[in-house]
Amino acid sequence: MKTVLVGVGQAGGKVTSALVDFDHEMGFGSIIGALGVNSAKADLQPLQFDTVLVGQDRVKGHGVGGDNELGAEVMQGDAREVMGELSGRITAEAEAIVVVAGLGGGTGSGGAPVLAKELKRVYDVPVYALGILPGRGEGTMYQVNAGRSLKTLAREADSVLLVDNDAWHSSGESVEEGFGSINANIARRVGLLLAAGEAVEGVGESVVDTSEVINTLRSGGISALGYASAEASEDPDENINVVTSVTRNALLTGTSLPNAVEADSALLVVAGEPETISRKGVERARKWVEEETGSMQVRGGDFPLESGRLASLVLLGGVERSGRVEEFMERAAAAVEEADEQEATRDSEEKLFQNDDLDGLI
Ligand code: GDP
Repeated sequence: MKTVLVGVGQAGGKVTSALVDFDHEMGFGSIIGALGVNSAKADLQPLQFDTVLVGQDRVKGHGVGGDNELGAEVMQGDAREVMGELSGRITAEAEAIVVVAGLGGGTGSGGAPVLAKELKRVYDVPVYALGILPGRGEGTMYQVNAGRSLKTLAREADSVLLVDNDAWHSSGESVEEGFGSINANIARRVGLLLAAGEAVEGVGESVVDTSEVINTLRSGGISALGYASAEASEDPDENINVVTSVTRNALLTGTSLPNAVEADSALLVVAGEPETISRKGVERARKWVEEETGSMQVRGGDFPLESGRLASLVLLGGVERSGRVEEFMERAAAAVEEADEQEATRDSEEKLFQNDDLDGLI
């Protein structure tokens, strides 16, 4: 799928970078353009692709400090410039646009929904969002921001592919320490998905068509992506269990949104040397995905790839009713209440200290 990426905010820029690098290393060529957008100048500097600084008149290149309403305002204010920068990149070849952002911060959280709306207004190709949810350990502000951003983004974008920052970081590792490995995990999964519909030079035509990805995401709302791989035998008959077990792992332990299993639609892509892919294994795996997701729309296909391993990539469309999303939205709502309570306490403290009978010290 020929895709143009727009990385908004710090996380958006870093994840876009990881995606661009992966696509380049693998030689896929499915990412045909990338742009970084931020209100913080320093976060744009390390990016190896073109960038636009927004909100310069309001925040002077220093970022919006986690204020996602301000993030939305500065994106709206400079939308014309951002859209202008994008117009040369979103050529007739483009099959999708993906807006990438961390939902817990300010610029990406507020800016991504605004940009998705603008892009939908102008372009006919699907506009997807790749949204990163804050981990459970991140503070109240992150949860509140992400809840509000997700609600808006799910409405504006054609589908929001959600990645939970708790999904792949190993125990003992802080979320920050884990960013490198999380970003690499995102790049591998999303990079393979984008490339699944591409013909890969030297290994023949891919049999997954871009339209299968688009149709799987057609139900809108929220989507998730699972992945797992394992050593393969050269004999396809010996790989029946390899295909079924990597598919199970992809969905049950390797997804970007843990425990999101119930889905409206799904796409199962099995990647590896074409001669080693077991047809019987693929059939069984597909049936299993159908039962597990409760979806009658499970599409499938192969992704020929030179590798000694077999991998399974499972894209789930319409997972917003899953326990995981509900749990997150409850967490965000509780965080809003907590923030309100903190504000009420602050107000009453302020009143307490406004007592004029008592003089201050200095
Ligand atoms: P912004 O620049 O104002 O949009 O804010 P950030 O992009 O820093 O958003 C903060 C959120 O993104 C928090 O939930 C962080 O945990 C997350 N985040 C920041 N950097 C990264 C990163 O490199 N990778 C991932 N996966 N998440 C990140």
